Amino acid sequence: MTRRALISVSDKAGIVAFATRLQELGWEIISTGGTKTVLDAAGVTTIAIDDVTDFPEMMDGRVKTLHPKIHGGLLARRDLDSHVSAMKAHDILPIDLVVVNLYPFKETIVKPDVTYADAVENIDIGGPSMLRSAAKNHASVTVVVDPADYALVLDAFSEHGDTSYETRQKLAAKVFRHTAAYDALIAEYFTAQVGVDKPEKLTVTYDLKQAMRYGENPQQDADFYETALPVPYSIAAAKQLNGKELSFNNIRDADAAIRIIRDFTAPTIVALKHMNPCGIGSADTIEKAWDYAYASDPVSIFGGIVVSNREVDVETAKKMHDIFLEIIIAPSYSEEALAVLTTKKKNLRILALDFAKQAASEEPKELTGVLGGLLVQNQDTTVELRNTWDIVTDRQPSEKEVAALEFAWRSVKYVKSNGIIITNDHQTLGVGPGQTNRVASVKIAIEQAADRLEGAVLASDAFFPFSDNVEEIAKAGIKAIIQPGGSVRDQDAIDEANKHGIAMVFTGARHFRH
Ligand code: 5GP
Repeated sequence: MTRRALISVSDKAGIVAFATRLQELGWEIISTGGTKTVLDAAGVTTIAIDDVTDFPEMMDGRVKTLHPKIHGGLLARRDLDSHVSAMKAHDILPIDLVVVNLYPFKETIVKPDVTYADAVENIDIGGPSMLRSAAKNHASVTVVVDPADYALVLDAFSEHGDTSYETRQKLAAKVFRHTAAYDALIAEYFTAQVGVDKPEKLTVTYDLKQAMRYGENPQQDADFYETALPVPYSIAAAKQLNGKELSFNNIRDADAAIRIIRDFTAPTIVALKHMNPCGIGSADTIEKAWDYAYASDPVSIFGGIVVSNREVDVETAKKMHDIFLEIIIAPSYSEEALAVLTTKKKNLRILALDFAKQAASEEPKELTGVLGGLLVQNQDTTVELRNTWDIVTDRQPSEKEVAALEFAWRSVKYVKSNGIIITNDHQTLGVGPGQTNRVASVKIAIEQAADRLEGAVLASDAFFPFSDNVEEIAKAGIKAIIQPGGSVRDQDAIDEANKHGIAMVFTGARHFRH
């Protein structure tokens, strides 16, 4: 008996060649309106869906294939007499192959001028239904949702007369992934439209962006998935212009660096190593910002990740080129700068990312994996500025110290907790990240800032639990501190600061980063 296929595709790429070959192999082809028009024009003989269902396609295509003649033909078990006789009784012919791809919902909702009505109209109904019916009945039915699988299916038909069970099972699994992701995106869109605060199900879909050689360590397998809906201000959106493929650690570090630079509007360079900033410099030119960031810690920047929020010019490029860096990210590079950077450095990863496109925002949410679950939170994008501060000491900070305290406060929230940072008003001088007690972080930051402490200020990402921190800071000669406050022993820290003539600011908000 001639076998029947049903073809109904929105993405018509490759469909003519596929259907032509299928016909040569002796299949009958049923198809829906638009698909039929394309196939007919190419000389493929097709059966209109109406001729199978005895119903017209109606309601602007909302109802085309939703009919027992179709779904019976897809779902009937070929090995059960009762199913076979039901087909006979109701004049249903089996359909052994379904080729469907869906209305372009994602492509529709990412259009800047998309209307709600457009989005709704692009929710495919019949397509996913047929895919599900066929995938459920993969024991007998071959289902193809991805044009990349056309060749594989044709090969199986021409060489073996049919697909193997294993192939049908794999294709069915792909279909279930596909329809699940399609529905998840619809859910995400609607959830955003109606502003559900804490949805009882999290439905975010990710597409494979990069199969990686390995993860954090070579013994760990890893891949990079990107959100189905693009996030403009992200490492996933960056365009690579030069260099080796990004590694797992590169991507995490680059992500961390990109988050930091969002908080700086003046020309700024952020240098980062192992998830911590090792140099931040702001100035009126990007070259000067580089000088400051580099001078912050000329040792740690080696093998680091550098982000610039302005075009990299040739002078800055020359300086960058002098040292070993893993990655450079900037909105753009002058032609000369790119030529300099790529000279004899074919491995240097150079990325372009347009920072101007989106200001820092709490969305998208930050996801942290734990075994058995996922923690979801807004991004920490607040920066408490001078007009909200509480100056808690006898001495008031000078205007220059206030500027430095603001710079320090912007920077400290990106240092791993317990995080301490020492800066002036344009450059980090010492970073004390990730210690299990705060005074250890203070000591590290001071040691790094060493002989550059004149006029420097210190920021702490969370309150000082004891006055010992202030003692250390006083010993180093630092004269201004910014911290959230909120400890039961705040008064001890204040007393200690007053004893040494240190100005101290409470911001009232802490910025842990773990
Ligand atoms: P065509 O371009 O052939 O007119 O339409 C193809 C598209 O229609 C495919 O994306 C397919 O998933 C979708 N489709 C097939 N049957 C139905 C149906 O009954 N209702 C809706 N809404 N879409 C369908």
